[in-house]
Amino acid sequence: MALKEGRALWVESQQDGILKGGYGPKDVQQIVDNAKSIGANMLLWLVKARMTDTAPALWYPSEIGLSHEACYEYDSFGDVIKMAHDAGIEVHAYFSTFTEGDIGAKEVRGKKPPLAEHPEWAVVDRQGRRSEFVCASHVGYREYLGSLMEEVIDKYPSIDGINIDFIRYPRSACFCDNCKKNIKERFGLTVDQTVDLLAGKDFDSLDAEELGASLDRVGAVINYYNQNVHDTVEYFHNLVKAKSPKIKLSAAVFPNPRVAANQVYCDWVGFSQFLDFVCPMVYWYSPAYYRQTVERLQAITPPGTKLYPGISALGVPHPLAGENANFLPKAPDMEYVAELIDIAREVGTPGIAVFQYGSIFNVEPGAYTGAKWGTPVVGDVDLIRQRWAEPAKPAHTD
Ligand SMILES: [Zn+2]
Repeated sequence: MALKEGRALWVESQQDGILKGGYGPKDVQQIVDNAKSIGANMLLWLVKARMTDTAPALWYPSEIGLSHEACYEYDSFGDVIKMAHDAGIEVHAYFSTFTEGDIGAKEVRGKKPPLAEHPEWAVVDRQGRRSEFVCASHVGYREYLGSLMEEVIDKYPSIDGINIDFIRYPRSACFCDNCKKNIKERFGLTVDQTVDLLAGKDFDSLDAEELGASLDRVGAVINYYNQNVHDTVEYFHNLVKAKSPKIKLSAAVFPNPRVAANQVYCDWVGFSQFLDFVCPMVYWYSPAYYRQTVERLQAITPPGTKLYPGISALGVPHPLAGENANFLPKAPDMEYVAELIDIAREVGTPGIAVFQYGSIFNVEPGAYTGAKWGTPVVGDVDLIRQRWAEPAKPAHTD
């Protein structure tokens, strides 16, 4: 039986290339050739941007949403599907879900950015300030994202999957009109009371019984936000699988499930039942802490979902490098990336996902990736090539 192992590369170099100008088929072919040369079998190709000042947010020629103007001249996403499939590599459309581009972005073909059309969708903080994150409670936005996914599947029917990122809240609660109303009606809490509860304000003055009641209030609010995200993933699952059960749904999530649910309202252990594979972004962890984390994640991921831990192949150190033993004390290099691939195998995960293509192939960061997400790692990509020498199909294939 042929080897099965997920070997994914997130790809964002095309955004840098498109923003620079003159992006064409040769550039896409180069990415496919490089990916093939090291034995990768999946490209997670960005089609909807994270929060950015490089809006518009879409990177294929959409008829529904706001795409970069150059995508109507040259469809790099259409080309990468053909070229990658010829090379035996899967292509998954990678969507940053709850982030929107710059609200002030100029119209493209008469269309305004979604948050300019629907300011009520934005996450709002205690002071009433709007963010460029959308609140997961808005069914209208959920349906907008669903319509983009349907468009991608209709336009590119041979696509292998949809990979979702930013499937969460920002690192704060939301007090949009929906959330204010829901939290008041369900839990009897005002905005200020909710913020104080979530911050644990005055908890040290409560007795044990009062503290228990307050923690139950906190739990109810946290669960409310988590349910909004959960419902969205279930909606995407139903929509994608109704289009074609062969199309895989996957997500990039925070690596620590215990804090992901509390800090960004992403209870991915709860919604991974809707995913074919999940990629916790175990970024910048020291090898020892990475091993411990991946062992735990492997134990809790449901049997029907493949665990492909995300590895940060990024040439910059974590802000806590040197201060906190859980993080690598320096910038990742190629030996670090190779060691993490080995550890994932030793733990028995069915694959891994590398962030990102450009930083392992020495592509200079551009306007989209920037220094933080685009600085190449030092070292020889042969270290990855050696580990992926034996051809493999992704573990989620039949
Ligand atoms: Zn909200």
